[in-house]
Amino acid sequence: MFFMMLLFILVFVVIWIFDLHKSIYIKSVSRNAGDSSALMAARWEGITLNLIGDLNILHAIALSATNTAAETAITNMQARLCYVGPMIAFMASQQAAKNNGIYPNPDFDTLLNEHVHQVRYDYPAQTNPDGTPLFPEPYPDCWNEYANMLELVAKDGVVAGPDNARLYTDYTGGHPLIMIDFYNAVAGRSWCWFHNHAPTLLANYQNFFPCWWPALPEPPHEIYMNSEIYGLGLNKSITELSSLADENTLNAIATERQLQGELNSTGMTQTAVWYTYGAPWTTWDVMADPSFPITGTLKPQYNYAGADAAVRVIAKAARLMPSGKGNYPSNTVTWTAAAKPFGYLADDQRPNSFDIVLPAYRAVRLFPVDASSAPSGGAYNLEWRRHVENHLSTYMEQGPQSGSCPYCNILVAWEDPQLRQSGIDWLSTNSWQCTIVGGPGGIRGGGSPRGH
Ligand SMILES: [Zn+2]
Repeated sequence: MFFMMLLFILVFVVIWIFDLHKSIYIKSVSRNAGDSSALMAARWEGITLNLIGDLNILHAIALSATNTAAETAITNMQARLCYVGPMIAFMASQQAAKNNGIYPNPDFDTLLNEHVHQVRYDYPAQTNPDGTPLFPEPYPDCWNEYANMLELVAKDGVVAGPDNARLYTDYTGGHPLIMIDFYNAVAGRSWCWFHNHAPTLLANYQNFFPCWWPALPEPPHEIYMNSEIYGLGLNKSITELSSLADENTLNAIATERQLQGELNSTGMTQTAVWYTYGAPWTTWDVMADPSFPITGTLKPQYNYAGADAAVRVIAKAARLMPSGKGNYPSNTVTWTAAAKPFGYLADDQRPNSFDIVLPAYRAVRLFPVDASSAPSGGAYNLEWRRHVENHLSTYMEQGPQSGSCPYCNILVAWEDPQLRQSGIDWLSTNSWQCTIVGGPGGIRGGGSPRGH
């Protein structure tokens, strides 16, 4: 009898240890897969930027030799590279994650297939009130070709969701309802978020009816020339080359990259189309901020934001231990990682020291996800995307409704005046604590939730 009982307990202990080990194993697998796929995407971003940079210099050489046919071919190639390069990055990052033992995620596949349909049919069809296209193509047949490339990735199965994707129809921020941090702050009673980001919201908010919130902002329309996934953030400038870079620098780079041909004053002074760095290429202010929890200082040559890659990998570990309800639940592990191409022109010169794109990218590194271009909610956080795309418009019309969506439930909780008052009361005596403190365990309200 005693032996039977012992055996029974032992079996459970073995199953429990098995589950624990499997969970730890899945965690390390998804970490490796996420990190390697971010690095792979960033590597292809760097390669593409170098190619576009090489083509800028070859364009100048063609101009110097007054070779008009070559000039046109080069700018056409650059326009296509802005989509093809990021798509190769997207494909290669999937392969890297698969090589590390993660299987395709059917929810990611569905999302991408829906987007393929949108690119192929909605982008070309939508027009402004005056009849001009709402999404003008950067080159003929671009939307169709781009949809084909996306479809190819979806067919092979998406493993690593591009978490910093920004679809042309996505909101870009500027409203608490589309910031996941607002929901986290309400759910976690992290009043410091309000102190730091929306100091008047707790006191000013009146209950929903009549709708208190300002209307959700329309996504801004721009000149479409960068891919939505792993886009390079580039721009086109129609100007003379001498206003973008000096001849000596260009000659030195042409020699280093072994680009054949002569650069002369005709090439430097004629007006032409050049691929330049666009709005995302600012200084890397998050990293340079002394309160951001990094050790050491950011080197001057790396102080730039711009093209980067953030990925989201989700893996499930099935458990052997049955739950109380008699079924076998699984543990879900989510790993996010970010990487970007690093480089320099000469010594400590940033790659974007000149406005024009020049080949300068030499390495890729991982860096904290919070310093990436991924939106706070993550572009491939599907529960969040569903809330923003499908639930918010209903909420704005009919007010808060509880259901299976956690974000909708948080909006119901937010209606409680007592909850908001408790935030105001807490902040009235404790707001001095609301600073971002670095270091392990030292993060309090408003810190970095995804600092790895
Ligand atoms: Zn919702």
